[in-house]
Amino acid sequence: MGKLVHETDVVVVGGGPAGLAAAVAASRNGAKVALLERYAQLGGLAAGAMVLVLDDMCNGNEITVKGIMQEVIDRMEKMKLAVYPPEEDRRADDAMFRKWARWGLYDYYARSKPAPVCYSVAFDPEGWKRAAEDLVAENNIHLRLHSWFSEPILEGERITGVVCETKEGRQEIRGDVVIDCSGDLDVASRAGAPFIGGSYFLTTVFRLGGVDTEAAERFEYEQPEDYLKVDKKAKDLLGGSWDKWWLKTPLPGIVWCNCPHMRGFDGANVEDLTNAQTEGRRRVDAVFAHVRENWPGFEKSYIVDLAPQIGVRQTRLLEGEYVVTKEDVHERVHFADSVARGRDYYTPYRALVPKKVEQLLVAGRHYSATSTAQKTSREIPPCMAMGEAVGAAAAMALDAGSLVRDVNVTELQKKLREQGADPGDVPSPNATVREVAKS
Ligand SMILES: Cc1cc2nc3c(=O)[nH]c(=O)nc-3n(C[C@H](O)[C@H](O)[C@H](O)COP(=O)(O)OP(=O)(O)OC[C@H]3O[C@@H](n4cnc5c(N)ncnc54)[C@H](O)[C@@H]3O)c2cc1C
Repeated sequence: MGKLVHETDVVVVGGGPAGLAAAVAASRNGAKVALLERYAQLGGLAAGAMVLVLDDMCNGNEITVKGIMQEVIDRMEKMKLAVYPPEEDRRADDAMFRKWARWGLYDYYARSKPAPVCYSVAFDPEGWKRAAEDLVAENNIHLRLHSWFSEPILEGERITGVVCETKEGRQEIRGDVVIDCSGDLDVASRAGAPFIGGSYFLTTVFRLGGVDTEAAERFEYEQPEDYLKVDKKAKDLLGGSWDKWWLKTPLPGIVWCNCPHMRGFDGANVEDLTNAQTEGRRRVDAVFAHVRENWPGFEKSYIVDLAPQIGVRQTRLLEGEYVVTKEDVHERVHFADSVARGRDYYTPYRALVPKKVEQLLVAGRHYSATSTAQKTSREIPPCMAMGEAVGAAAAMALDAGSLVRDVNVTELQKKLREQGADPGDVPSPNATVREVAKS
C-alpha cells in the first residue's frame, strides 16, 4: 500500500477546527496522536478559506461552546488578533447594532430587528494558525502536514490506519482509532460508511486593504439612499452574498468579504472547483472596481488576497447511527447522549459514529445530519465542540479496551464537563426534552 512511517493510538485526518480539537482532546486524555493535514497549515476553512468570524456559540447570554474553542480565542486575543463585544454591549438596540454590525458580531438567527449583539469573535487567520500550532506542540501531537489522505487501511470492518499521498510517495500511518475531520468525509466514505451527497454554494472569500472603514460606515448610515444603490450594484456584481458582505477584521483598514456565493458547483469535484476558482476571481475583480469608484472609504483600497482555498460548506454527509434533522436543530431537541452544542441545539454522540465501520469516528461539517440541518449547524465553534467530544471518546475507548461505538456516554459527558467543555448533558430551559438520560 505504502511505506509505514508512523504508528500511534489515534490518527486524526484533517487539521481544521474539528481536527485540531479532536487531536488535542485525545492527547489530553492520554492517547498518542498523529494529526494529518493535506495543506501547509492548520486551520481548515478558518485559515485557508479565511472564514474570520466565530459565531453560533451562544444561546441568548449563555455561552454554549467553551473548552478548546475558548482556548483558541484566548490565545488569539493575547496576540491582539481577536475582537469580540464586551458583555455590556451584548443586547439588542440600534446603537449597539451600528457599533458591531460591520464586525459581523450579532445573532444571525434572530428574527427581531435590530438583531442582538452577542458573544461572537472576529479573528485573524495568521492568529489561528499560530494558536493551532502552539496547541499541537504543547500537547505532543505528531503533526504531518503535506499529507493528503487517499485510502483507508481496513481489516474486515475495522479501520487500522490510513494511506497518504506525499512528495515522498505513499505513506501509511497506523492507529487503533481513526477520526475523520476532513470536512468532506473522505475517510469514512472510502471506508464504506453510508453517507448522503449534500451540497451548498461555494464562496471565494477575499480581503481588501487600505479601507477607511469609518468613512465607509458613515456613508452607510448618513447617506442611506446612495448607500443602498451602491450596495445593490455590488451585490449584483457579486451574484450572491450575505447582507453585510464586507466586515472589519482585527487588522486596521483590512476588511474580509465573505462572497461571492456561487451556485451549481460541487465542492468535491475537481472540474467544478477549478471553474469556481476562476469564476470567483472574475467576480471579485468586478466588485472591487465598483466599490473603489463609488463607495466613499474604498477610494484607496486594494485587493490584499483571495483566500488560498475556495470556501466549501457542504459536500458528503455521514449517515451515521443517528441523522440530525432540521427540526432537531430548529426546535432545539435535546438528546440524552448529547456531547456537543451549537448556539441552542445539541449534537448526539450517535451522529458522530458511522455505521458499518469499526474504530472510526467523525467530527465537523460532514457529521451525520440532513443537508438542510447541516446548513444551520456547521459553524466553526460547534465543529470544534464535536472534535473535542470524539477526541476524548477515542482515548476513553482505548483506555477501556472497548469499541468507540460502545463508549460510556455518561462518563464521556462528565469528562468533557470536567475539562471545561459543555457537552450539552444539561438541557437549557429553552430545549425540547423528549429523551431522559439513564444513569
Ligand atoms: C465561505 C464560508 C464562510 C463561512 N462563514 C462562517 C462564519 O462566519 N463563522 C463560522 O463559524 N463558520 C463559518 N463557515 C463554516 C465553517 O468555516 C466550517 O463549517 C468549519 O470550518 C468546518 O470545520 P471542519 O474542521 O469540519 O472542516 P474544515 O474547516 O473544512 O477542515 C477540514 C480540514 O481537513 C483537511 N483535509 C481535507 N481533506 C483532506 C485529505 N484528503 N487529507 C488530509 N487533509 C484533508 C483540510 O485541508 C482542512 O484543513 C463558513 C464556511 C465558508 C466556506
